[in-house]
Amino acid sequence: MSAKIISGKDIARTIRDELNEQVAELASEGLVPGLATVLAGDDPASRLYVGMKNRAAAEAGIHSRQVTLSASTTEVELLGVIAELNADPAIHGILVQLPLPRRIDESRVLLAIDPDKDVDGFHPINVGRLATGDLDVLAPCTPRGVIEMLLRSGVDPSGKHVVVVGRSNIVGKPMALLLLRRAHGGNATVSVAHSRTADLGALTRTADVLIVAVGWPNTITRDMVKPGVTVIDVGTNRVDDPTCERGYRVVGDVDFEGVSEVAGAITPVPGGVGPMTIAMLLANTVEAAIRLRAAGR
Ligand code: NDP
Repeated sequence: MSAKIISGKDIARTIRDELNEQVAELASEGLVPGLATVLAGDDPASRLYVGMKNRAAAEAGIHSRQVTLSASTTEVELLGVIAELNADPAIHGILVQLPLPRRIDESRVLLAIDPDKDVDGFHPINVGRLATGDLDVLAPCTPRGVIEMLLRSGVDPSGKHVVVVGRSNIVGKPMALLLLRRAHGGNATVSVAHSRTADLGALTRTADVLIVAVGWPNTITRDMVKPGVTVIDVGTNRVDDPTCERGYRVVGDVDFEGVSEVAGAITPVPGGVGPMTIAMLLANTVEAAIRLRAAGR
């Protein structure tokens, strides 16, 4: 293996230490950032993610509140909770854990969140602001985390050809938009690939930086990358492994062993993008609190 490992775990720790200091400073000025997480239903993975986010917030000195609603919650009830959180001055960030129970209209719920408290960056106003190059927008946590990882490991996307594999609203599309911005961390030449891309390997071999968010193990193999490329693996997949106590292990979308023999730098899974997503949620909450204070809210 020759690739340098980009440890999201270490970078996220550094960012969280910086945030601890910033939050302490804000608290001394009388501002305690507040994050509300809303969990509807009993999906075990969602419960786990919400628990992690709340623990991380508490560790950073951010006031956190979890609203847990049953799987039979109605859309009206959920919208009522959001309206209360929108009006609550102690709450600066609102995160509704997705997916929602099927009969609830996800887009109506996201639309109900105050865009200034939308720390996930999924509100159409924030999506539009990101698309038009607004630098003050609350950007989605995972792509924002990827940019931080690149910059903090000495890889400035400016002028590079960055290939993003995946076009979801959560990762691929906002990733491409952040990379396109006329700003530090942006200014890349961006290609976006998806399941209908003809000859994915021909495209990925032209990448200086390759960002993969597909949700399928081994989508990228060593023959699909050029020597020296920086690879960011967003994928989080469970694969059966009877040798592990849990019966499975978590892998990314990239064949880590093979690709790290060719790449210049690569993120591991776990310990790569995952910890960055949580760090960026905290960063967005602190930013939202500062902006709401400046707006007198
Ligand atoms: P989606 O399923 O919403 O999107 C997957 C994308 O990959 C789609 O655009 C799809 O194309 C594309 N795709 C699927 N198969 C191929 C293929 N063979 N070749 C090229 N493109 C393909 O997933 P998400 O974006 O939500 O998540 C992607 C991965 O990232 C998942 O493993 C998820 O768990 C992980 N993730 C990790 C996070 C973290 O914090 N580490 C946060 C968020 C996600 P098409 O549009 O044509 O269907």
